Amino acid sequence: MLPHLVLPGVGFRDHDDPKVSDWIRLHDESPEFDVALFGVPLSKTSISHSAASRLPDAIRATFKSLTPYSVHHRIDLSEYLKLTDLGNVAMHLTDLTACQEAVEAAAQAYWAAYDKPLVVLGGDHSTTGASVLGMVRAQPKRYGIIHFDAHHDVRNLEDGGRHNGTPFRTILESEFAKDGLLSGSNIEQIGLRDFVNSKTYTEYAVKQGVTVVTARQTHRQGLMNVVQQAFNRIRPAVDAIYVSFDVDVLDQAHAPGVPAPSPGGLTAWESLEVLEWLGKQHEVRAMDIVCVDPAVDFRDLTTRTAAHLVMSFLTGKALERRETQTSGEG
Ligand code: CA
Repeated sequence: MLPHLVLPGVGFRDHDDPKVSDWIRLHDESPEFDVALFGVPLSKTSISHSAASRLPDAIRATFKSLTPYSVHHRIDLSEYLKLTDLGNVAMHLTDLTACQEAVEAAAQAYWAAYDKPLVVLGGDHSTTGASVLGMVRAQPKRYGIIHFDAHHDVRNLEDGGRHNGTPFRTILESEFAKDGLLSGSNIEQIGLRDFVNSKTYTEYAVKQGVTVVTARQTHRQGLMNVVQQAFNRIRPAVDAIYVSFDVDVLDQAHAPGVPAPSPGGLTAWESLEVLEWLGKQHEVRAMDIVCVDPAVDFRDLTTRTAAHLVMSFLTGKALERRETQTSGEG
């Protein structure tokens, strides 16, 4: 480089202020990591128009401005966790079934090779069906799912196949549900809204044994109370728990950049707090975050919230590690 010139994209650097992007390492086949993430750039399977396929890279871009430090807990996550980025699942351009199969195969390959917490960056919500099935195929045991969403996502598969309205139908009608590894009674849906779900689908979810908690109930009981009760109810019946977070569970005022915004939803602060709490639970082995469309977002507010939700989950994992080390030293 000539004097006074730097590479394109290299901005101001403060050597006392490392960023999340400095912390994350691209995966190099080494098992030397504690938590992994991969992206699912898929939203052609969304009912409403969505560019959620851009979310994985949008979150990574946000990581260039976030630090791995929690002021609240006085913890630098990078001191407790090694975070590795596995990249994005390669998508077929026109064969959406092949896309679902690729996501499932990627998840299966991960869980066959590693038994470390995973963060999946969607994508639309069809991501979850594929991610969960791949996980169970690689490690067949009993799973619980805590699912944050304005919607049940149990639409019938006949009318449109595996799209963002069907992941929980896909799960509940899978071979693993029949085997008891994915039981409706071990799934809790939190944040459901009026007027965006049908009678048929609420009745289907309840009949499958799914516990349904509306957004209004969370406001009255407190989201943390609801989540802790869900975890304590499910945990004794399962070997591991998966968390699926559709960002449209947030109130539209908190998440303008989702394909299906609606009022009356959760706030950002309480969602950040419960994802951290869930991350801290050893039994919670994976989370996904889905259905943010960066193309309709306002000042990246919703992408930023999605990135903070992921960081909150990782903070939980770092806190778990810090407590384990502290008790080990004692
Ligand atoms: Ca959803």
